[in-house]
Amino acid sequence: VHVSAEVSPFHKSGGLGDVLAGLPGPLARAGVDVRIVTGLMGDTTKLDSIGGRSALTPWPHPVEIGLGGQPIRVQVHEARTHGGEVITYFIEAPHLSRGGLYGHDDDVYRFAILSKAAVAVASILTRGQGLGPVVAIHAHDWHAALAVYYARAQAPALRDAKTLFTIHNLAYQGLAPASESPYLDVRWDDFHGAFEYAGALNLMKGALVIADRITTVSPTYAREIQTAEYGNGLDGLLRALSGKLRGVANGIDVRRWNPATDPAIAADYSAVDPEGKALCTADLRWELGLAAPKTPAFSPLLGAVTRLTSQKGIDWLCDAADGFIRDGGQLVVLGEGDAQLEHRLHWLAMAHPGRVAFRRAFDEGLAHRIYAGADLFAMPSRFEPCGLTQLYAMRYGALPVARATGGLVDTIAPLINQYDVGGANGFLYEGHDGAAFSGALRWATHVFRDPGALAAMRGNAMRAQHSWDDRARAYVTLYRELGIHI
Ligand code: ADP
Repeated sequence: VHVSAEVSPFHKSGGLGDVLAGLPGPLARAGVDVRIVTGLMGDTTKLDSIGGRSALTPWPHPVEIGLGGQPIRVQVHEARTHGGEVITYFIEAPHLSRGGLYGHDDDVYRFAILSKAAVAVASILTRGQGLGPVVAIHAHDWHAALAVYYARAQAPALRDAKTLFTIHNLAYQGLAPASESPYLDVRWDDFHGAFEYAGALNLMKGALVIADRITTVSPTYAREIQTAEYGNGLDGLLRALSGKLRGVANGIDVRRWNPATDPAIAADYSAVDPEGKALCTADLRWELGLAAPKTPAFSPLLGAVTRLTSQKGIDWLCDAADGFIRDGGQLVVLGEGDAQLEHRLHWLAMAHPGRVAFRRAFDEGLAHRIYAGADLFAMPSRFEPCGLTQLYAMRYGALPVARATGGLVDTIAPLINQYDVGGANGFLYEGHDGAAFSGALRWATHVFRDPGALAAMRGNAMRAQHSWDDRARAYVTLYRELGIHI
C-alpha cells in the first residue's frame, strides 16, 4: 500500500506525482499487488483521465478514524487507475479535501488525516477475506510520514507489515510545534524517541527513524544527504541510519512521454526520424513570440520547466542569461513560485523581446512543447534528488546543461570531448554561481553549432533508457530484501 499526497494525473506539484504515476504499473506487472491511498482534494483533484467522478465507487467498508481524540468522518472512494493495473483509494475528509494540495496553515494536520486513513484502509484490507495481509506500507515524503508511525505503533492488524519511507525531497520535512503532538496522536515517548528535532516535531525524521527501509530517488542523492551540505540538518541521523538507506533513480513513463505519439506537440519525431523536432522548435518560437533566427543552426533555444524555488538555481540562470543571449541563444522559462524569481524573469523577458519568453503558469501542454522545441535544457540546480525534467528533455532530444548534483549525475552521461562524443547525452558542470553555469552554456552553445556532435548527442539522449520497468525491478529487490515474497 503506497501512501502519497500526489499522484499524477490526479494531482501533482512536481516529480512526486510523476513517480506515483509511473512506478505502480511496472510494479504490478512484476507481480506486486499495488494499492495507492491518496486524498480527494476537492477541485484540485482532476479525474478526467479515468472518466470523471462517476468512475469512483464508494468503498463498501466503513472507515472510522480519530485524531487527537476527535472522530473524523472519512469517505473512501475506490477506482481502477494506471490503465486498470492498480486500485487507488481516494480519501475524502474534512480539512484534507478543501481544495489545494499544499499551503494551508494546517497542512500537517491535513496529511495526518490522510496517513491515518491510509493505515485504516490497509488494516481493513489485511482483515478482509481472500486478499491476504498487506505486506508493506510504502510512504512517500513528509506528507505520508505519519503512516509509517501509525502502522507501526497503532495498527495491530499491520503487525507483520514492513514499512518503507521514500525521500523525494529532504528540504521539506513537515515541521510543527511540539505542542501539536497530541493532536496528531504522537505519544510523548515517541516524540522524544523519534520525532523530536531541535525541540520541534519533525514528521520526516520520525519516519526515517521508524521505517524498516529508507529509500531516496537516486544513488548520488542517497550519498549527498549524509553530508552537511545536502543533509538539511538530518545528515548525522542519515549517516547513522545508512545501513537501511538505498538510492534508486526515478524513471519516466515512456508511453506518456513519447515525441513519436505526443498529441501536445506540433510534429511527431523519434531517434530514427528526428526531422519533426525542427518543426516543434519553430512552432514553440511562434507560440511564445520568439524571433525566428536567420540561421537556426547558430541559435540554440534553451528551455526550463520548473518550480521557481531556490533549489532549482533559477537565479543562476538569470545571471547567465544575458551572456547566453549575447552569444546568439534564446531562452524560454515555464514556471511559477517565488515572487522575486518571477519578477526577475519578467524583467529578463522585457529586456530581451523576441529572445526571452517567460510564462508564469503550470501548463502540462506547454511543458511538453518546451521539451520538444528546446535544443538545450537548463538545470543549474543547487540540489536535485533525482530530477525528471532532464529525463523528459533527453527523451525529446533537448540536451540537459546541468549542475553535477544528485540524480543529475546518475542520469546524464556528460560530454567530455566534443570530437569523441561516445555515449554522451548532456553537459554536467561544477560550481556554485551564475558564472559557472555561464561557462557550461558557452560550451553547450559551441557544441550545438557542430552538427555532427549535436546529432550524435541528440540520438544518444533520445535513446537513453530510463523507463520505469527497469527501476521497478530495483524496488522489487528492495521488497525482497525485507523478506517479502514476490
Ligand atoms: P521537482 O519534483 O523538484 O519539482 P522534477 O524534475 O522531479 O522536479 O519534476 C518536475 C515535474 O513537474 C515535471 O513533470 C515537470 O514537467 C513538471 N513541472 C514543473 N513545473 C511545471 C510547470 N510550470 N508547468 C508544467 N509542468 C511543470
